[in-house]
Amino acid sequence: MVSARDVVTGHVPDGLIYGPVTSRRFGRSLGVSCDAPGQVGCAWACPYCQLGEQPRGRHVAVPAERIIDDLRVALIDHAADCDVVCVAGNGEPTDHPEFPVIAMAVAQLARIHGLRSILLTNGDGLMTPAVGCACEEFDEVHVKFDPGPNDGAWRHFDVDTAERRRAMLRNVPELRIQALIYQGPGESPGNADAVARQRWLTDLVGLPVVSVDLSTVARDTRRAGIEAVDDTVLEQWRRDCDAVLQVPVRVYGAS
Ligand code: SF4
Repeated sequence: MVSARDVVTGHVPDGLIYGPVTSRRFGRSLGVSCDAPGQVGCAWACPYCQLGEQPRGRHVAVPAERIIDDLRVALIDHAADCDVVCVAGNGEPTDHPEFPVIAMAVAQLARIHGLRSILLTNGDGLMTPAVGCACEEFDEVHVKFDPGPNDGAWRHFDVDTAERRRAMLRNVPELRIQALIYQGPGESPGNADAVARQRWLTDLVGLPVVSVDLSTVARDTRRAGIEAVDDTVLEQWRRDCDAVLQVPVRVYGAS
């Protein structure tokens, strides 16, 4: 079932295919979720997650065939009003057991309709070779790498896994980084202070980054008290990022 609303309430997908929505980064975007509404297929715990406290983690996967069929139908109705097909949705797409099948089909369908294909991912699945290969089907893959936690990942990594993650990211041919900066709860600087910024930049220097998208909180958050940073803070991050990495840096404030 396709929702044709311009705005998805709270940006929480209400179907396997959602939108088209107007995206600040990609224009008119038809969204693809690999998880059904009401269940978040993601093992991470980002404090700012817009998906809220829905049941998380392992659940029965939606068959790839159903996702692909729904997208095929939605594109007939909406392709003329879209710029991209964006796989993101109600959880982490690369955690879906049939992700390579989905990736292949989404990229092909987008291409047939003259649209670009985009994947937004926390990068977890990229450590599996078949998933990494499937990601090459997309026109753009944007990988979350946040300041604050070890290795930019809001999940526990043991030492070996952290090193594998860094090695994997070093092999991504065009590494597009996305990161979210926030403050709080309360008086806490969140992940926005100079120490976090320096550590994050040091991590990124060793990776083949081609672009960075910086944003802040613009929607409801999973954890109470997490708030947006103001534009001057984002500008400071942009300047330092630009100086150190020397790649295009795009900044998206709260409004
Ligand atoms: S990786 Fe994405 S879906 Fe998972 S907790 Fe973080 S923001 Fe939410």
